[in-house]
Amino acid sequence: MSNHIPPSEDVSQAVPHIDGQPYLPQNTSLSSQIDDYIVHPKTCSTHLSELRKTDSFPSGQFDAQSTSRVGVPSGAHLIVATHNEHKLGEIRSILLPQLKTFTGNDRCVECNEEAIISAKGLNVAEPVEDGITFTDNAFIKARALCHATGLPAVADDSGLAVDILGGAPGIFSARWCGHHGDDQANLQLLLDQLHDVHDPHRGASFICAAVVVCPDGTEKSVLAQMSGRLINEPRGSNGFGYDPIFIADGQTRTNAELSAKEKHALSHRGKAFRILAPFVAAALGYQVTTIIADKK
Ligand code: IMP
Repeated sequence: MSNHIPPSEDVSQAVPHIDGQPYLPQNTSLSSQIDDYIVHPKTCSTHLSELRKTDSFPSGQFDAQSTSRVGVPSGAHLIVATHNEHKLGEIRSILLPQLKTFTGNDRCVECNEEAIISAKGLNVAEPVEDGITFTDNAFIKARALCHATGLPAVADDSGLAVDILGGAPGIFSARWCGHHGDDQANLQLLLDQLHDVHDPHRGASFICAAVVVCPDGTEKSVLAQMSGRLINEPRGSNGFGYDPIFIADGQTRTNAELSAKEKHALSHRGKAFRILAPFVAAALGYQVTTIIADKK
């Protein structure tokens, strides 16, 4: 657990931390500490002070040829720092409808699937994700890609925080079984670890840090969560990772039994990228002046 605690934090409190915030089981203060917003574009302007940061965002017309160190397909304007096509699909389908709600201008890039590409095939070395928070790791991925391509880059880093494990697997979610990216082994190990733990002590939350990084150095990060509980047997075949054993609050089906659209509406990743969308839109040259972010 101590790996979750940033060096700057007071370890003597013996409270595990996620991204600098004490990890406490659901329905405690963590829920109110982590951003949990829904963004309603074009309704008001309470976030204008924050959006002023976007004043320094470039116009969205980056000359990728002059700044890039790697070849970028023409028509690509935003890079998603992932080699996972499933994640690219999720992020595209969350971001595109949001981006389309903003007003473009004639210098604005077109908001379509070809404009948003993944790092796969770009021949950019994957950076070592040695951050100790979700946010650190998301920035490591996005900064490396932005630097290499000369284009704005988005990244997410996500994982499952289990209450009774003090927030683990957390940033180690993808390699909980000891090696990277074996969803089945990760899920089985977690089920084995929890097999004696009964409801109502099986609370858990998915956490997602989503970031956008621009070539001029402008950056924005968002942290969001989806709370729920873990069941004993996997159910469903949609989604990935720990989805088959996670039931979100208010649901009776696991994430893996939800359609992609249903999952995005609830998910940590859906929430985080909907909040980030205005900042991504600004990075792409869209007019972003009237945003409200309501606390849920
Ligand atoms: P990463 O953000 O690509 O490093 O993924 C972290 C790991 O967290 C994944 O390999 C999954 O095991 C888990 N994870 C993150 N988001 C989800 C989700 O939406 N459903 C299920 N598992 C997830």
